[in-house]
Amino acid sequence: MPSLTVALTGAAGYIASHVAVALFERGHSVVGFDNFSNSSPKSLERVAQIADTHMPFEQLDLADTDGIEAFLRAHQVDAVIHFAGLKAVGESTEQPLRYHENNVGGSLSLLRAMENAGVRHLVFSSSATVYHPDEASPLREDASLGPINPYGATKLMVEQIIGDVATYSDLRAINLRYFNPVGAHPSGLIGEDPVGTPNNLMPFIMQVAVGRREQLNIFGDDYDTPDGTPIRDYIHVMDLAEGHVAAVEALHPTTGPGVDNVEAINLGTGVGSSVKEVLAAAEQAVDHPIPHQVVERRAGDGTVSYADPGRAEALLGWRATRTMADACVDHWRWQERNPHGFAPDPATDE
Ligand code: NAD
Ligand code: UDP
Repeated sequence: MPSLTVALTGAAGYIASHVAVALFERGHSVVGFDNFSNSSPKSLERVAQIADTHMPFEQLDLADTDGIEAFLRAHQVDAVIHFAGLKAVGESTEQPLRYHENNVGGSLSLLRAMENAGVRHLVFSSSATVYHPDEASPLREDASLGPINPYGATKLMVEQIIGDVATYSDLRAINLRYFNPVGAHPSGLIGEDPVGTPNNLMPFIMQVAVGRREQLNIFGDDYDTPDGTPIRDYIHVMDLAEGHVAAVEALHPTTGPGVDNVEAINLGTGVGSSVKEVLAAAEQAVDHPIPHQVVERRAGDGTVSYADPGRAEALLGWRATRTMADACVDHWRWQERNPHGFAPDPATDE
């Protein structure tokens, strides 16, 4: 397999750090930038430790079109995987302009820099939140779209912009619609390190398990599901990472068949798990009960959402192989060894 030079935007973040490891493992060169608005330089050190090689890196903001163009030219980049973005649904309803500026404005700046530098292959981190909430699962890529919050709207807008640019220029792109990423690299060296109170289920559960939080709030158990809690498609972040490697290899003509203009592809497992099932799997992994209580529903939560992963298998030859139990064991290893994430322990400053 010929090797590609792949640039990661948001390179220090949760998903990008795992993708960097997976790309290095396949023999590709990886370069990246990040503004550290939601990440730590420590994650880059840990990736270097796992991969036994340093990723050429610059602290850059998506808004810096000229800086990104120079970066892409300097490293002779073949393809970009675009992770950088703000991702908290609740925050996006409080700061919609900031979300549009960073996610949509930032993506326009990146596309301009790519065009100027002659980089014509792009994989974009989209999300299952682009689907209309009334669409029934399993969700296929041709289900109707209709995000219900500014975060989801930014993802759909960027997909549409990429679609226009790909249709009317030589850009070739894959929009990857992720379901719910969980878990961590099995080394326990990198993982999800949310700033402040976690919005997502798995990091919240694990912070309770490690003693950083008192109890999990289950947001409603009166949904129309077998145990009353909502169902989602939780995908191990290493499966997700391997999905990105498959996508970028399929996209670039030196390593795969290429795509016509643009493709949207789900990255999910096709298996749904309820909140109570996730909690039970986590309790198995941590080997002790995790305190929890049922509270009111959270506004905007749908009942059931899981992927039809068939298109990923057909186009990329990829499917998820890891289980919920694997994800919980790996997430716990990361959380137990790094109770404060990448930050020093406040008690010892180490
Ligand atoms: P993350 O916050 O860990 O990573 C995003 C990275 O982008 C961070 O390191 C942040 O500092 C950086 N960044 C943000 N704005 C930037 C800017 N203007 N310039 C440069 N760097 C910037 O998040 P993640 O979970 O790794 O998510 C990666 C991508 O995947 C995001 O686009 C997110 O919307 C998308 N996604 C995530 C999930 C999820 O549940 N984690 C689900 C679907 C889609
Ligand atoms: N959830 C919960 N308590 C939490 C966080 C999440 O009960 O502290 C539930 C939430 O209601 C949803 C599921 O867990 O049914 C997954 O939520 P998450 O925010 O992780 O992902 P989403 O699918 O909403 O993007």
